[in-house]
Amino acid sequence: MKKCIAVLAGDGIGPEIMKEGLKVLDAVAKKYGHTFEYKEALVGGCAYDAYGHPLPDETRKVCDSADAIYFGAVGGPKWETLPAELTPERGALLPLRSIYGLFANLRPAVIFGPLADAASLKSERLKGGLDILIVRELTGGVYFGRNKVTSLALKEGTVQGEYAVDYMIYSVPEIERIAKVACEAAMKRGKKLTSVDKANVLESSKLWRKVVIDYVQKKYPMIQLNHMYVDNAAMQLATNPKQFDVIVTENMFGDILSDLASAITGSIGMLPSASLSETGFGLFEPIHGSAPDIAGQGKANPLAQILSGAMMLKYAFGLSKESNAIEHAIMSVLEDGYRTGDIASANTLKDKILSTSGMGIKVAEYISKVEGK
Ligand code: NAD
Repeated sequence: MKKCIAVLAGDGIGPEIMKEGLKVLDAVAKKYGHTFEYKEALVGGCAYDAYGHPLPDETRKVCDSADAIYFGAVGGPKWETLPAELTPERGALLPLRSIYGLFANLRPAVIFGPLADAASLKSERLKGGLDILIVRELTGGVYFGRNKVTSLALKEGTVQGEYAVDYMIYSVPEIERIAKVACEAAMKRGKKLTSVDKANVLESSKLWRKVVIDYVQKKYPMIQLNHMYVDNAAMQLATNPKQFDVIVTENMFGDILSDLASAITGSIGMLPSASLSETGFGLFEPIHGSAPDIAGQGKANPLAQILSGAMMLKYAFGLSKESNAIEHAIMSVLEDGYRTGDIASANTLKDKILSTSGMGIKVAEYISKVEGK
């Protein structure tokens, strides 16, 4: 198979972890006889420095011509004081999501067996492992409210005297299409879906709950559906995460809950994500940010980036076997005691600590050892 991939490494640790992601994709291409063509482009703060905009036309063109977008991370203190529309996240990441209609954000929170002792919860609460899928709505809610209220006098996010305003807006079709993605995922797993909202307070959440109930009753009555307020969901995730299978929620709640889920699994450096459109086009990125505090030191864990590459193979290219090979290689690397600093166990004598590139090399090497072609 031949595929063209837009490679947007971004800022901070982005370029370091992306290098390792590509190393592993190269190893997969070699083993399984595929050709991955990489088209690199600037995004985020580095693009602002070079072109005066975090998402320049040059980068748009590269993405337009690609089969998928492989994304690192953007942002950093250097660009925080720019006008909102030019900051790396507001000026690049949010527009990419809306331009390509990337409304469905899949965020698996999985504990790899060998990392159980790196997880923040007592091991009895995680007995038998943890495998949650958070399905986050990505192009609506409070992060995109401004697009829908431009006619109002108060502009979202801008300070008007002593006030600042954001709008959380959802429509029935927006909720139905994310409910569909979540139901399809639940059908392939434990057929259990938890919808998270704040329907005791927010009008958008009341609509959310009603639409999810109607949709599941009509289309997937075999799915066991329950509802939780977001504050309770945070508490339940932190105390009894194994009760969850698939969680579906709106944009900001999903953002916050998935970071909490990452803390439970051990490190934010382990968690990938896929953001998909209705046509199957997607952007694949780790859930963490650009980690400026460790950039350039060879300390970043590249596994979330590498696992995002595995999600790209599966969801964008339909290469499930190759995607599984990456997961198996990572499992074997961890079983053999290799760690980056963020996932080191308490027993430092047992660990073989690797740098960012050392971990990438190790996973790529183990790809060739995965059985079968
Ligand atoms: P962050 O995720 O970058 O870092 C949080 C903490 O986790 C830091 O201590 C960092 O060192 C650590 N960490 C993150 N990734 C790691 C990895 N792969 N290996 C080891 N440790 C890792 O979040 P932040 O500090 O809140 O944000 C930093 C910048 O990233 C900000 O400019 C923010 O706006 C941006 N950001 C970008 C994205 C994105 O590009 N999708 C997402 C979140 C934050």
